[in-house]
Amino acid sequence: MNIVIASGKGGTGKTTVATNLAWWAARQGLRVVYADCDVEEPNGHLFLKPELSWNRAVLQFFPEVDRGKCDRCGLCGQICQFSAIALLGEKVVVFPELCHACGGCVLVCPPQAIQEKADDLGMVEGGHSGALEFVQGRLKVGALRSAPVVHEVKAALPSADLQILDAPPGTSCPVVETIRGADFVVLVTEPTPFGLHDLKLAVEMVKVLKTRCGVVVNRALAGRTEVRQFCQQARLPILAEIPDDMSIAQAYAEGKLVVEALPWYRRTFARLLRQMAQAAAPEMLLRKIIAALDSIEHSSLENRPRSPIAVEDAPPICYLDFRSKIADPASKGTNPGRVP
Ligand code: SF4
Ligand code: SF4
Repeated sequence: MNIVIASGKGGTGKTTVATNLAWWAARQGLRVVYADCDVEEPNGHLFLKPELSWNRAVLQFFPEVDRGKCDRCGLCGQICQFSAIALLGEKVVVFPELCHACGGCVLVCPPQAIQEKADDLGMVEGGHSGALEFVQGRLKVGALRSAPVVHEVKAALPSADLQILDAPPGTSCPVVETIRGADFVVLVTEPTPFGLHDLKLAVEMVKVLKTRCGVVVNRALAGRTEVRQFCQQARLPILAEIPDDMSIAQAYAEGKLVVEALPWYRRTFARLLRQMAQAAAPEMLLRKIIAALDSIEHSSLENRPRSPIAVEDAPPICYLDFRSKIADPASKGTNPGRVP
């Protein structure tokens, strides 16, 4: 199952959710790969501390014109949809930063005056963090197009029960590239006006991509109900709320995983994983996940301090399934809570 953890804006706790979910699910015996697709600023490694064992370069192709062969017909500029090549006066000029490497100009050039040259765009690297497989992309400093690096990160993912992709923030091309083909998207937000505004943008993006999604509210505060009201109106499930807890901020600042430093929060991630599996996992995988969750040591879920947030124990509102009709998870069946 391919799960993307995304957010409409940066700083909402997307990496906190992705790294903790991945590490904890791997600890339950599931085959899990964590992929950091936030290639401009990958930081999942700060918490998972992987041992990296491989890497490979990501190359970008762009055209180079042989002026001796060019007859200045201008066809290359006419076919390019990105204004990356143009006949300006007597000279063909290439703007590599605009080129999408489609190869169109190479194909239409009558005297074959255009060659493709490769430039370094970044790298993909990977390894292990305990039982968890780890992959991340890095965009080269100064490079402008991160979507091809995200594409290569996804191409490098090993097969696993759970592929957990940590998306870049926002709703731009690299985020769309990360979400394309996902089984489920978790939108992480915070209960602020900015958080709500950007959540709405992210929901619209996920609708266009026709992918199932749910919401995690980070730094939740009792009394801040705007996000919850929006989710009810939009028929979006709130999968979990993580309270505005100073001990979480402290663990984050020290580069620690919440599920390691504060084990009572494992319940939050157990609930999150169960709901996503019920919504999107194939039957065999769903059984495996449920079995793993049911075998968790209850002692690791106890001793939880009192919290003003009681959302974890509340039932989900409903699942918004953009791929088919809206379904009520409370409806009975062989698999309660599963979106048909
Ligand atoms: S390869 Fe495609 S995007 Fe790049 S300059 Fe040629 S036509 Fe334009
Ligand atoms: S299509 Fe080829 S020959 Fe025509 S202007 Fe472009 S580079 Fe020159």
